[in-house]
Amino acid sequence: MRPLAVLGATGSIGRQALEVAADIGAEVVAVAARRGSDELLAVAAAHPAARVAIAAPSGDERQRATQLGSRVAFGADAVAALAAEPGLTVVNGIVGVAGLAASAAALAAGNRLALANKESLVAGGPVVSALVGTGGSEIVPVDSEHSALFQLLAGRDGHEVRRLVLTASGGPFRGFTADQVAAATPAAALRHPTWRMGPRITVDSATLMNKALEVIEAHHLFGYSYEAIDVVVHPQSLVHGIIELSDGALLAHFGEPDMRIPLRFALTHPQRAVRPAAPFPLAGTSLTFEAPDFEVFPALRLGYEAGRAGGSAPAVLIAAEEIAVGAFLAGRIGFSSIAVVVEHTLHDVAIRDLASVADVLAVDAEARAVATGHLGSC
Ligand code: MG
Repeated sequence: MRPLAVLGATGSIGRQALEVAADIGAEVVAVAARRGSDELLAVAAAHPAARVAIAAPSGDERQRATQLGSRVAFGADAVAALAAEPGLTVVNGIVGVAGLAASAAALAAGNRLALANKESLVAGGPVVSALVGTGGSEIVPVDSEHSALFQLLAGRDGHEVRRLVLTASGGPFRGFTADQVAAATPAAALRHPTWRMGPRITVDSATLMNKALEVIEAHHLFGYSYEAIDVVVHPQSLVHGIIELSDGALLAHFGEPDMRIPLRFALTHPQRAVRPAAPFPLAGTSLTFEAPDFEVFPALRLGYEAGRAGGSAPAVLIAAEEIAVGAFLAGRIGFSSIAVVVEHTLHDVAIRDLASVADVLAVDAEARAVATGHLGSC
């Protein structure tokens, strides 16, 4: 097992990655976070040999972090530098487009990228995909759906596979009408039925934008066309991914909704570490599947449209979406306006090719500005 760099160490993914690392005895040689919080300093203290990077500390945090001596460095470049140390598994749990440079650095250095940062493949798909394989680098996805598909597709000839199916919980508004969804409050959107996650991804689950982004990620990770990637609503969140083979057989990946399971796999693959647990209670477990409602949840349609348009369109989608979700959580726009802001922004920002991280960041900045301009008209 390779030593670990855990980026976004104080976020939901980072915390769970550190927990899994302790559990399986993986060595943590680097940790990074955006802020120099008490929690980050505690993580640094628990891993006294680890290098530490703090992307954007306050003056006070920077001052306090100097107690870490020469093992601490500051700024976004310092985070990417940790990912660029060869021989590592880099867990990228950074939230937002800030995670893109670290993903690119990890892959360029030949590392395993245990990827949880959505922007890396959604916004930076063409750039990040081109780096996979450099010096033996690989992406092992951490997201439960992609981890499931990764495991189902391992060692399989692509010609045998007819389609990939991503499962969606349906979020808290499953079964709602368009009118009911329009009246949804931030508090209601933050009540996810099966997964415990950060606020943005929880709202993204309510709009189904999270699933739209996952379709784009699956396209880049596994190389299947958008016609061969489907979404099915599965409220129990127990089946994480399904593949349908050319002979009509369906293979499903199934288990508890617990991010520590795919995280553990991402760190130990191709081996598996023992996880003491009671046998899964199959008796009495029901699995149901239903079609997603593209009318009530237009984010799903926008995701496919942006994915098929390619180039910079998915980068515009995810940037606009972050602006819109922030405005929704702040009470500035209604729930239904999230997709409206995204659609208008996609319409307004011209699609171009992406050749570098800088290209992606430029599109991201433009899309944010355009989306912010659209908030006022919602
Ligand atoms: Mg997911």
